[in-house]
Amino acid sequence: MSVARRRELDEDDVRSRANPRGTRPRSKQRPAHEDATDGMVIAVDRGRFLVLARDPAGREVEATAMRARELGRRGIVVGDRVGVVGTVSGDPDALVRIVRIDERDTVLRRTADDNDPNERVIVANATQLVIVSALADPEPSLGLIDRCLVAALTAGIEPVLCLTKADLAAPDAVLERYAALSVPAVVTQRGGSLDELSALLRDNVSVLVGHSGVGKSTLINALVPSALRATGSVSAIGKGRHTSSSAVALRLPDDAGWVIDTPGVRSFGLAHVDADDLLWAFPDLEDGATQCLPGCEHGPDEPGCHLDAWVAEGHSTPARLAAFRQLLVSR
Ligand code: ZN
Repeated sequence: MSVARRRELDEDDVRSRANPRGTRPRSKQRPAHEDATDGMVIAVDRGRFLVLARDPAGREVEATAMRARELGRRGIVVGDRVGVVGTVSGDPDALVRIVRIDERDTVLRRTADDNDPNERVIVANATQLVIVSALADPEPSLGLIDRCLVAALTAGIEPVLCLTKADLAAPDAVLERYAALSVPAVVTQRGGSLDELSALLRDNVSVLVGHSGVGKSTLINALVPSALRATGSVSAIGKGRHTSSSAVALRLPDDAGWVIDTPGVRSFGLAHVDADDLLWAFPDLEDGATQCLPGCEHGPDEPGCHLDAWVAEGHSTPARLAAFRQLLVSR
């Protein structure tokens, strides 16, 4: 898989390493917290975090956590692997402190949009982005699918198409549109089997995104039985004020991986993504772009773009180039 692992560092990581002005080396500033317990952030709400970690007896529990002051303003998001200190227990009133955020393998982010003025990291360490779209009722939003694909591909996260309600409309046109991208696709229908989707989710950390009404909640309810979710006392950390926009990680039965629901994510602003970011997800085209004129945006009408010649030379296919350009304009 060529796209993974190249964007391992996000800005937070870089900043934390840069030893900001006036601070002494960290080792002298605070204890090293070698006794910290490893955990994973599974929910975030208003400055409180739910961290899955092992208690002193080795049992896995959901500990309520706060950020240690020494972490400054570094963001902590669902999926982050962290170190916590304090007595790890399932008691929601017993707070532990997050003292360490491990380097992230991937970062799914979105640019500020009309609903939210800040660029946000949505999820850390996801391996897959499952783009859930209905085939009818509501009609597929191809623009949203395109933007989700760009967000995943530029983040080194494998996209998966999940097309629901196939009992209402055939999937062929949508599948055809994305065929050149070789994106795994699952087609489901109401009341039908989810075995194929479950197989794709296995051993992955999969973020599910989709408009309301596409059947995402139905999928999640079917994949993660309520008995499992009852233990995810998400509402407890916010004292019942859990904001619906927060992401939450839910473990699949038999420890078969994680699904991360993103109830509040309705779009992906992509202003932080440029043409070369996307090109990076197309290794068959990337080398050809080195012969473009400087500043080339790689559009179909750009006189200095070498990609058409590159494809004509047989390094890639017209369909791949068309798919790249289709995503390029979706930003
Ligand atoms: Zn070009």
